[in-house]
Amino acid sequence: MKVQKISGNVWKFTGTENVNVYLITGEHGENIVIDAGNRSDRQDLVRLLGSMVDLKKISTVIFTHLHYDHIGNFDLFPNSAFYASEEEINSLEADRKGTILNEDIENKFNIKLRKLPDDMGPLEVIKSPGHTRGSVCLWYKEKKILFTGDTFFSKKKKGRTDLPTSAPDEMGATLMRLLEYNPQTIAPGHDY
Ligand SMILES: [Zn+2]
Repeated sequence: MKVQKISGNVWKFTGTENVNVYLITGEHGENIVIDAGNRSDRQDLVRLLGSMVDLKKISTVIFTHLHYDHIGNFDLFPNSAFYASEEEINSLEADRKGTILNEDIENKFNIKLRKLPDDMGPLEVIKSPGHTRGSVCLWYKEKKILFTGDTFFSKKKKGRTDLPTSAPDEMGATLMRLLEYNPQTIAPGHDY
């Protein structure tokens, strides 16, 4: 696993399948994690993320969407609240298999999800249907960092829209909307 500081208080942990977990530390100790990575990265996350913050003190975990490689280590954060968009929560209820895409994680994933509000602390929530109907991007306005989940990657590549809960017809409008933010840093769900 590779660890990289992308801004003063924002860290990126890159693991299996180049999947990224992000940590934003708060001035007053309120720490936010964006996506929980692949299950196979568990020990690395315990060691590396756990050396920076007490995992028991993570208060907020935000999922950009609910594919298995973005939720795999949800249970490393025993005292956290977990958020996903209302649309993504609806997908999970309607089609658990098609929303998670991995049987092992489907069986393990047993937490209560809260609906994402429009703003989460320093982050603005941007609804970004395309890769999945309920995908979101997160805009850290103060630092001009755009967390894009699987909507858009670093090398000008957009995410897949042929998955069971994808919304291919909406991807174009989503990408146009994201352009308007004019981010300084793209923080994608995978490094590729
Ligand atoms: Zn995905």
